[in-house]
Amino acid sequence: MKKYEFWFVVGSQFLYGPEVLETVEARAKEMAAALSKVLPYPMVYKVTAKTNKEIRDVVKEANYRDECAGIVTWCHTFSPSKMWIDGLRDLQKPWLHFATQYNKEIPNDEIDMDFMNLNQAAHGDREHGFIGARLRKPRKIVAGYWQDEKVHRRIGDWMRAAVGVAVSKDMKVMRFGDNMREVAVTEGDKVEVQTKLGWQVNTWAVGDLVKEMGKVTEAEIDALVKAYESSYDIATDNTAAIRYQAKEEIAMKKMLDREGCKAFTNTFQDLYGMEQLPGLASQHLMAQGYGYGGEGDWKVSAMTAILKAMGEGGNGASGFMEDYTYHLVEGQEYSLGAHMLEVCPSLAAGKPRIETHHLGIGMNEKDPARLVFEGKAGKGIVVSLIDMGGRLRLIVQDIEAVKPIMPMPNLPVARVMWRALPDLTTGVECWITAGGAHHTVLSYDVTAEQMRDWARMMDIEFVHIGADTTPEKLEEELLVKDLIWKLK
Ligand code: MN
Repeated sequence: MKKYEFWFVVGSQFLYGPEVLETVEARAKEMAAALSKVLPYPMVYKVTAKTNKEIRDVVKEANYRDECAGIVTWCHTFSPSKMWIDGLRDLQKPWLHFATQYNKEIPNDEIDMDFMNLNQAAHGDREHGFIGARLRKPRKIVAGYWQDEKVHRRIGDWMRAAVGVAVSKDMKVMRFGDNMREVAVTEGDKVEVQTKLGWQVNTWAVGDLVKEMGKVTEAEIDALVKAYESSYDIATDNTAAIRYQAKEEIAMKKMLDREGCKAFTNTFQDLYGMEQLPGLASQHLMAQGYGYGGEGDWKVSAMTAILKAMGEGGNGASGFMEDYTYHLVEGQEYSLGAHMLEVCPSLAAGKPRIETHHLGIGMNEKDPARLVFEGKAGKGIVVSLIDMGGRLRLIVQDIEAVKPIMPMPNLPVARVMWRALPDLTTGVECWITAGGAHHTVLSYDVTAEQMRDWARMMDIEFVHIGADTTPEKLEEELLVKDLIWKLK
């Protein structure tokens, strides 16, 4: 994970004289230092801008510097916004407009016109807001006192979404083989995703992976098996299968790292020269922050890596998921999510077990080793990116995951059970209406608001299905958005 930071740019003007400007600068530095201690990424004070050139210069630098993941602006005093036009027009990094104020209270005895002239964010931030709206510039607006915890959480959440933007713009996906034959929703326009989202999606031969596997040494496998043993319970005697998965993981990781890829796909239809579909191998790579998509689904793979990077510590509880089957008993309606093998252990409630079982689908000569576990209970989201032809649509649904209500002793894969909002069947109707895929990223760490921020920064369509969604409202929303996105 790169070291990211955010730049604090404060707007002002010369009108107030040097003393006021010195006070503004000192306070801005104090605020940036204090906020850096409570936010997930440092906020670096840059400038109290008084001219068009100062703003253009700081934006130019922000665009150029890789470590700068976004800018946060605030107007302690009034900052005439025509001087912001050129800078904001050129800005290519995420932007948060922080509408706050240095003092929390209006001081009854102290307040006079000098105080008012120094502390006028209430109208400074409105002038600043106008130019954002006038320029149609995507931005996040957070209003509130700078020492409030709720404000810290909201800025922190946005920072993580902005890091998701930086990670997206750097994203390279390694595809081993093509997509599963005849499947529609896993297809997409790779030129469009590179233009909009920055993803480089390219293919490598399965034969190259098999060649790489041939170069893996026994010592390398020993070391990785030790790492498996320290993280997971071994519930199989088939050590050969575990060692084979280790060999697959080492070879894939070498190829991914060599090419700078943070995400990969494979398909059970193309395992030519391999004994088993990577299961444990893909799961352990996901645990390290790599994105994965089954059946060649490179969109979900890249999204998995991005949501992971947006989470806690730059590698949160997010993983590749598939809606498999329902429990439709009244009052107990749940989705059961899993995959053939590849569910990320960051979703696990307890310590995963390594098991080996027969896998009938695909060209598996031998039983693949995989991690088996139950998913955590808790609030989360599922995310699907689909290609609507001419544009991308990001669909996010709120979910409530539960401890699976039955043990399912014969199910040989990791499983997560959840109820989609507003309720399972309405949620399913809404999801299907919007065209959401069977593959998703399931996250306990990233919120729908963060994905909305991410979609806004990426300039793609965003659809949210939550507690208040009705099929009727959603249908209308999709009709309107369809028109808007055709015009854009
Ligand atoms: Mn699948």
